Amino acid sequence: MMENKDQHNSSNQRDSLSESIWHGYTGQPDLNETKTGSPDQVYDCLIAGAGITGITTALLLQKAGMRCVIAEAKSPGFGTTGGTSAHLNTFFDATYPEIESDFGADAAKLVAKGGKEAFDMILSFAKQFGIDCDLEYKKGWLYAENEKESKQLQQILEASEKAGVEVKPADENGLPIPFISALVFEQQGQFHPLKYIQGLLSAFVALGGILLENTRIKETSFEDDLHTAVSDSVTIRAKNLIYATHIPPGINLLSLRNAPYRSYVLALKLKGDNYPDGLVYDMQEPYHYFRTHLLDGEKYLIVGGEDHKTGHGDPVQAFENLRNYVDQYYEVESVVYQWSAQYYVPVDGLPYIGQLPGGDSRTYVATGFNGNGIMLGTLSGKIISDLILGNKNEYAKLFDPSRLKPVAGFSEFVKENADVAWHFIADRFSSEELSTLRELKAGEGKLARFEGRQIAIYKDDSGKITALNPTCTHAGCIVQFNHAEQSWDCPCHGGRFDTSGKVLNGPPVKDLEKVNLGYQ
Ligand SMILES: Cc1cc2nc3c(=O)[nH]c(=O)nc-3n(C[C@H](O)[C@H](O)[C@H](O)COP(=O)(O)OP(=O)(O)OC[C@H]3O[C@@H](n4cnc5c(N)ncnc54)[C@H](O)[C@@H]3O)c2cc1C
Repeated sequence: MMENKDQHNSSNQRDSLSESIWHGYTGQPDLNETKTGSPDQVYDCLIAGAGITGITTALLLQKAGMRCVIAEAKSPGFGTTGGTSAHLNTFFDATYPEIESDFGADAAKLVAKGGKEAFDMILSFAKQFGIDCDLEYKKGWLYAENEKESKQLQQILEASEKAGVEVKPADENGLPIPFISALVFEQQGQFHPLKYIQGLLSAFVALGGILLENTRIKETSFEDDLHTAVSDSVTIRAKNLIYATHIPPGINLLSLRNAPYRSYVLALKLKGDNYPDGLVYDMQEPYHYFRTHLLDGEKYLIVGGEDHKTGHGDPVQAFENLRNYVDQYYEVESVVYQWSAQYYVPVDGLPYIGQLPGGDSRTYVATGFNGNGIMLGTLSGKIISDLILGNKNEYAKLFDPSRLKPVAGFSEFVKENADVAWHFIADRFSSEELSTLRELKAGEGKLARFEGRQIAIYKDDSGKITALNPTCTHAGCIVQFNHAEQSWDCPCHGGRFDTSGKVLNGPPVKDLEKVNLGYQ
């Protein structure tokens, strides 16, 4: 399927095997320096995670005079920020009619205001710090292909207008795809996420902020009003601890209130020049979206969708479906990049931003962004920095992670947790019996019973077999093999591990245990 990917050189890492369109960007070399800090030093804020959320938060705090350190498990952009599609939207996966009906009209207005504020923050940072990140205003089209969708679209129009979003009916949808009704949202945008976060990081470091790469926070404790965080190489002490890790590590309420999803993206070259100019979304389930990005003078059509719960769908099939879908409407010259990435769906539709429920004092978290974390991660920076600095913040109550929302999302909540419970039980009995490891093909991973115990086995291209204990180190579910990304994915809370068992995505912090097969 990948036709000419080799021409691109990637120096950035991702939490997945596949390379996203953004990863050819190498960033400023000065940022690759890892500083260790002094063991006696007490920071005001430790921010775990250098995605858009962590870096925005760190910059705002450092700008306000706090001494901040970012500890990143790998490198900036390693997580979903490096695998995003980077639309800047003021409408969200939780639609305005849904927000209005579940949280009230004022909440819908506040969310709309938050979207606009996040957009303005991105614009103003880009301007203030001179960040050249391909930032552009675009129109956004949402279109319906049948009567049912059209009815929903009408509700979206009414609730969005009421919430204060600039939107109107449209007689085009920006694509060569037939439709029966459409809306156009004004003042949407797009950018290059890695160029943007590298620009923010430069500003952060210039203000005296510290970035520690390859520093996964594995344990934390809280004593004498200070957090002590431990990684393999360094111990960090700080007054405030912020988990900007997309999902907080360990078992906590937020593991249960967010469901992990994989989402798929292609970046294609077209025959001809009919690349869409705006950001375009259909209303199918699973949905599709389209946009164009100009990179190094070359246009790429970015198409995404085909999402499914992590560990539940077929990733290879998802890429194929996406490609087949595009082929119906465009003449594709080549698929230059294809990648997948993870996001977290909050049980009641809104993100969780603020104090970690049940966590130590002054522990903050930002998660549950759905497919909107570029905007919501940016807004999180404002909310969390305001909370730490003692400033009033109008969004803090609505997005409070400790909120109890008994009605909204309740059926989904039950379903997600029924899924989790089912996996706890069923996966222990469903693994395939293999009489011999030789049945395994190169590049394949399987759950198997081998000499009476369940193992996760993987064979690499050279024939080397790696056997792991398939019990996720987070909450004990059984991981499943993801062929497209060559990873072991947990169907319960979205923990992901590479084929050697190393953690790729939280919430687990411990690698999968290696199993000695005793024959090599
Ligand atoms: C395919 C796809 C397309 C999307 N498109 C859009 C879009 O168009 N617009 C939009 O608004 N949103 C979009 N999103 C959502 C958005 O990209 C994400 O919500 C956002 O990037 C999350 O940023 P983050 O900084 O919170 O997390 P991440 O970018 O995942 O960063 C978390 C970082 O924490 C590090 N980390 C994890 N655990 C630890 C630890 N214990 N110690 C230290 N570091 C740790 C990780 O290595 C990682 O670098 C999309 C999501 C997907 C999957």
